[in-house]
Amino acid sequence: HNEPRVVLSARGLTKIFGAFAAVKDVDLDVRHAQVHALIGPNGAGKTTVFNLLTKFLQPSAGSINLLGTDITRTAPDKVARMGLVRSFQISAVFPHLTVLDNVRVALQRPNHLATQFWLPMASLNRLNERAEELLSAVGLSNERNALAADLSYGRKRVLEIATTLALDPKVLLLDEPMAGMGQEDIGNVSSIIREVAKQRAVLMVEHNLSVVADICHHVTVLQRGEILAEGDYATVSQDPRVRTAYMGT
Ligand code: ADP
Repeated sequence: HNEPRVVLSARGLTKIFGAFAAVKDVDLDVRHAQVHALIGPNGAGKTTVFNLLTKFLQPSAGSINLLGTDITRTAPDKVARMGLVRSFQISAVFPHLTVLDNVRVALQRPNHLATQFWLPMASLNRLNERAEELLSAVGLSNERNALAADLSYGRKRVLEIATTLALDPKVLLLDEPMAGMGQEDIGNVSSIIREVAKQRAVLMVEHNLSVVADICHHVTVLQRGEILAEGDYATVSQDPRVRTAYMGT
């Protein structure tokens, strides 16, 4: 069958801290237009995998390829400019700026891929247009003039996704995007992610298995730094090893 192309892959990815292997020989293929979940119990190595892929940590062994380029030895800022972007932490939202200005600032970040925003002519119009598009894409248009500080927790995280999308990632890494959210915000962020993934790859760490079942095309289950199972959610959730190790049934 015809699977979408792989945009981010890891082979034999390994990270050793002292004598402890936090990530062991992990192979990963993240595909365009798919939502890929990374799940597993606490301490499984999910955060370390994210840190390796974004190059915040240097792998002890293995290789990483982004959009056809080997990035095993590439610096994190370069990797971000190449299109692999991790969601900002909430602290990256400027509380005293409006929602719209937060997105405008994000669009003007110096490592932004679309350098045309730096051209003097028509740049302001294009910037404002693009900011409005992004707000509309995440459903924040009506709150454009609100101060970020006045948004609810869930809406702040949606703003954080908008500022991340401002960097026009080809591969978007989301670390527990629904953590701490109520059901309504979870539904809202789920549809944003589904929509956003139509034009890029999304890799997300997610604990909420109904979200994984709902929006993820592919699931990789980590346990003690190793891949325990992978496949679509239906397959993975039936796997007796996964049920024992992760779901506790
Ligand atoms: P998860 O995100 O799945 O909860 P982590 O990637 O945070 O797991 O951690 C995996 C394992 O690696 C844990 O046992 C953790 O204690 C260990 N670990 C993570 N970072 C470091 C570090 N900098 N030094 C030593 N051990 C670490």
